[in-house]
Amino acid sequence: MATCRIAVLPGDGIGQEVTPEAVRVLRAVGKGAGAGFEFEEALVGGAAIDATGVPLAPGALELCRQAHAILFGAVGGPKWEGVAHEARPERGLLALRKELDLYANLRPARCFPMLVDASPLKRAVVEGTDLMVIRELTGGLYFGEPRGVERFADGGARAVNTMAYTSREIERIARTGFEVARKRRRRLASVDKANVLVVSQLWREVVTRVAKEYPDVALEHVLVDNCAMALVQRPTQFDTLVTENTFGDILSDEAAILAGSMGMLPSASIGGAVGLYEPVHGTAPDIAGKGVANPIAAILSAAMLLRYSLGLEREADRVERAVERVLEQGHRTADIAAPGRRPVGTREMGDLIVREVEAQS
Ligand code: NAD
Repeated sequence: MATCRIAVLPGDGIGQEVTPEAVRVLRAVGKGAGAGFEFEEALVGGAAIDATGVPLAPGALELCRQAHAILFGAVGGPKWEGVAHEARPERGLLALRKELDLYANLRPARCFPMLVDASPLKRAVVEGTDLMVIRELTGGLYFGEPRGVERFADGGARAVNTMAYTSREIERIARTGFEVARKRRRRLASVDKANVLVVSQLWREVVTRVAKEYPDVALEHVLVDNCAMALVQRPTQFDTLVTENTFGDILSDEAAILAGSMGMLPSASIGGAVGLYEPVHGTAPDIAGKGVANPIAAILSAAMLLRYSLGLEREADRVERAVERVLEQGHRTADIAAPGRRPVGTREMGDLIVREVEAQS
């Protein structure tokens, strides 16, 4: 196959430690598959502010536009907390999402069988959980107009945000939902609040219409309050969920606890010409620089990159299987280690997964 160009933006804190491990895994998988990967790095976040004065280094956006996919670490940290709002490290990530029109955020939550006891929920509840939350990322309440605060002479005030969606915006995220469900167990739950919100009524109408193009995927509509309960009572009932921005923000964080640790959660932001893949966690200033961060979230993000941007399904499976094997063998980083067991560091966990990928090639 032709060479795939991958833009690598490690960012700050543990982003700089876990991203190189994901790159090493991709190199190993590429070698095994005869696929050529080219990696080019750029600065983002605090690292970009320190070196260039802005949170997305000059040339970084162009590099991302020219790439087949983007591997992202994490941005931010105490050092840049006092920086003016418009120049903060996270503006680099928000600018990328906006410029690249990444309207679909994919957050899988899978409870690995050997990590069942790392979840705060009971074994009987979480065992077998394997779901994907798809959140619309560029519309709805967080962006709708009008928005603002009105101050009254009597000292009172009134604030407004607007939840708005066009049928076009709903249609494209619904398609993402059905396409992703097709790559999984072919069940899609569309989450809304159609018993109260007119926006949700349009959402339901459009999703139902799009469903006609996907007769092989079973669609159900779920009210968001019911969904929030079901996620912690019977998470195994779900396969793929699709929902609007605010509901998705909340539900994807709720689903995250099913997987046990922040260090295990990958994500993808897709929709535009080039997808961005990043661990869900942040820069973890409390452990940054110590070589103890769990690189699995970054490595599983690389697996999503293979699947969703490069169409390399088998290679994605290979990475996910390698992670599973290494966990089965009992290796754990500190965040998921049982008390009294010696944990492995970031680099060692990367080595173990690379070796498993090579063994499967
Ligand atoms: P965080 O995800 O960085 O850390 C939360 C907790 O989880 C910490 O105790 C941390 O040590 C642990 N943790 C996270 N990832 C881990 C890993 N891979 N291995 C082991 N332990 C891990 O969240 P936070 O502390 O709220 O935020 C820290 C900084 O990161 C802030 O500046 C925040 O703005 C930023 N942040 C960035 C992103 C992003 O770039 N997308 C996302 C979230 C937070």
